[in-house]
Amino acid sequence: METGVSLGEAIQISLTEPLSRRTERVSIEEARGRVTAVPLISKVDDPGFDNSAMDGFAVRESDCEKDGARLEIVGTSQAGGASPPEIGVGQACRIMTGAALPSGADAIVMVEDTETDGEYVVINGPARAGFIRRKAENLSLGQEALPSGSLLSSASIALAGTMGHGEIEVITRPRIAILSTGDELIQPGQELSHGQIYESNSHALASLVESMGCEAVRHESANDTLGELRETLDSLSYCDAILTSGGVSMGEWDLVRKIMEEEGKLSFWRMRLRPGGPPLFGTWNGTPLFGLPGNPVSSLVVFHVLVASWISKSLGYHHETGPSLSQRVSVRLESDVSGAPGKLCLRRIRIRSEKGELLATTHTHQGSGNIHSMVAHNGLTLLPPDTDGKAGEIIDALWLR
Ligand code: AMP
Ligand code: MG
Repeated sequence: METGVSLGEAIQISLTEPLSRRTERVSIEEARGRVTAVPLISKVDDPGFDNSAMDGFAVRESDCEKDGARLEIVGTSQAGGASPPEIGVGQACRIMTGAALPSGADAIVMVEDTETDGEYVVINGPARAGFIRRKAENLSLGQEALPSGSLLSSASIALAGTMGHGEIEVITRPRIAILSTGDELIQPGQELSHGQIYESNSHALASLVESMGCEAVRHESANDTLGELRETLDSLSYCDAILTSGGVSMGEWDLVRKIMEEEGKLSFWRMRLRPGGPPLFGTWNGTPLFGLPGNPVSSLVVFHVLVASWISKSLGYHHETGPSLSQRVSVRLESDVSGAPGKLCLRRIRIRSEKGELLATTHTHQGSGNIHSMVAHNGLTLLPPDTDGKAGEIIDALWLR
């Protein structure tokens, strides 16, 4: 068992017990929010045939060189309609957006630039080849357009549909159990007795788990007794992973640490991170388990920097198109921000874009018990150990979604 590991080491160690990756086929109707398990290959050319980008007339460009050319209308090409007639010299075909280009035509005139006079059309504007959408100009048959590990959001689902996929092979949502621990915790909405607090971590963690493409299995909080903890962990070990919060520090009642040490398999305990120093990782009955700190800010921050990476790497999420909770950016500090001796320091910052650069400020106080600070800010500094940030400096940060 290792203690006091860096964030990079913690990610490496946790990946020795990765989240298991299974796949399944779902219909496109059910694919929203899922993650592709294979690259999606186009089953068609897009467009499948040359067609018009405008409502207007399909013409021969050479017939329209002088203003006011008068062409005979030989038919209509409608989207989804029958094959249009071929056009010859001096002829035009009425055409709708998305309709097939008649053979013989090499340009389109917009309807706004024409006047019809019985069986003839007078051309008052430019005939443009650029108004033709060419076969396969967007995608060609067999092209890999969506990588494996992509989140199926609105645009990527539309792309999958355009490529002809009525069913999509996706990653089966892993079930991640969430267990808050602490005698003081009760669910919001109930009457508080002396010394009790409302339990909030499990709700935050469930939301983060779902945003990372997994299914959250929230359990009611466990009291600080070894018996209850053992029983609850046993009952949750059918899940693909377990996240606990609380009970991992140095205190006598920090029983998650104690039970993992004595009865589980512990791979590391404590990270060189502020906030969020006390996490542990190991397995319980063979199920990967992250013991997150109880302090609300710490548990969220550790999820963002450690658990989200573990999920993403275990399941092979794509670095650009896969689910993610944050983006690494460079920000210019507007005020001094103190770092932490020997620890990667994740101060909460508010990031905004101004005049082409990202500026970062800090507002409310930064206690790890102050969950409001995670709402009032939208980013975290990535200040290396023993490094303070000075106003005006550019530093690395995470911009949280
Ligand atoms: P612990 O790590 O168990 O010592 O908890 C650290 C602090 O976080 C204590 O003040 C706890 O009351 C608080 N805390 C622990 N678990 C939760 C939770 N699930 N929701 C909100 N606060 C919590
Ligand atoms: Mg506790």
